Amino acid sequence: MKLLLLGPPGAGKGTQAKLLMDKNNIPQISTGDILRAAVKHSTPLGKRAKEYMDKGALVPDDVVVGLIRERLKEDDVRNGYILDGFPRTIPQAEALSRITDIDYVINLKVPDEDLIFRLSGRRTCEKCGEVFHVKFNRPKVENICDKCGGKLFQRKDDDEEIIKKRLEAYHKQTNPLAGYYRKNKKLIEIDGTKNPKDIFNSILKVINPEAIS
Ligand code: AMP
Repeated sequence: MKLLLLGPPGAGKGTQAKLLMDKNNIPQISTGDILRAAVKHSTPLGKRAKEYMDKGALVPDDVVVGLIRERLKEDDVRNGYILDGFPRTIPQAEALSRITDIDYVINLKVPDEDLIFRLSGRRTCEKCGEVFHVKFNRPKVENICDKCGGKLFQRKDDDEEIIKKRLEAYHKQTNPLAGYYRKNKKLIEIDGTKNPKDIFNSILKVINPEAIS
């Protein structure tokens, strides 16, 4: 099954992608994660992407489309995958439609005020990527991941000024994708303000009704 998670930064795409990945045994492909790894290792791609990411702007389409095209050639995607954070513009969606057909597009809807609160308090594990929040999902030991014991850090782009820029980019460049996929009759709209388990069950109800626990 090929799934695409759409929604603003902080909507819970990563959390749902991980739950879907475990349930369906298909990989999560997050362009944000791939780009952050490239930045960390100072590769030529990372150096180019960093300029944009640090400002809360989108990385140019040709860069991310090239990256996805290569990723989708790997062996582990044979039975499907979950795209998380790609596409983010209409040209990216058009490029994707030339590479493959997606089964379901899941649009997680969350108001901006909630997103600012979620993102500015978000803490991420540097080792396994598990996500916590300083107020509503605190780790058992401060700054330590419950899952793997890794250290938690605040993403550079989870700073309030940059969050506002990322939301601006979302409204201008990514939100029009909902209309694009609605036209293709592939869009599933989900209320992303509920708790992760309820959101997950709402998604399963549509894509895999017999798998609801
Ligand atoms: P994310 O982790 O998905 O919030 O992505 C973090 C940052 O990576 C974004 O703010 C963009 O700068 C960049 N990025 C990730 N995915 C894309 C994409 N599909 N197109 C352009 N830029 C992207």
